Amino acid sequence: MSIAKNISNIQADLSQADQTVELVAVSKKQPMSRLYEALDAGHRVFGENRVQEAQTHWSDIRRDAKYPDLRLHLIGPLQSNKVKDAVALFDVIETIDREKIARKVSEELQKQTKTLNCYIQVNTGAENQKSGILPQDLPDFLTFCQQDCDLNIIGLMCIPPIDEPPAVHFALLHKLANKNSLLKLSMGMSSDYKKALPLGTTSVRLGTAVFGAREAI
Ligand SMILES: *Cc1c(COP(=O)(O)O)cnc(C)c1O
Repeated sequence: MSIAKNISNIQADLSQADQTVELVAVSKKQPMSRLYEALDAGHRVFGENRVQEAQTHWSDIRRDAKYPDLRLHLIGPLQSNKVKDAVALFDVIETIDREKIARKVSEELQKQTKTLNCYIQVNTGAENQKSGILPQDLPDFLTFCQQDCDLNIIGLMCIPPIDEPPAVHFALLHKLANKNSLLKLSMGMSSDYKKALPLGTTSVRLGTAVFGAREAI
């Protein structure tokens, strides 16, 4: 199956939803040839989970006048020493997950006189090893991001626990977004995005469904 065909099949699925759903093609651990295949197919919105790998993949393409509408989403945890590079490269940061990072992103945006859209990552399963704000801490953290840091928070993002039905977590994230007057929901990966569609997702993050299996690096 070609990447162009994968993308058009996925877009057909997404168009079945009541709401508009954006496809973020997750290009981590994929060879450059596949990135170009997606670009040649007209796709412009990509997700990466590591800043350094994203730079390797996208810095040159970002500067290429052929792709003025390229949009890059950071979907992995952000370390403070990577914030400067992340703010310079990405258009959307989906993983605002603690005060220190919110503050740092805010400072960097000022320094670079840039604006970008952010999501708050919510740890819907309250898993110890997973980053994200606990559901009960969301209202205070949102206020902190908006009022103290002046971040443009557009929505919520989650990664459900692997051993639980994802729909429960998608429904919870939807409820939290509604309660907090946020419009966007980044939820759904290759294995579960079809379940996220009826639960209000507005953005799915798909790697293997778009590109095929990742390289083991
Ligand atoms: C890798 C990754 C994805 C994509 O995973 P697939 O199963 O390949 O679709 C989505 N979201 C996050 C946060 C990821 O790290």
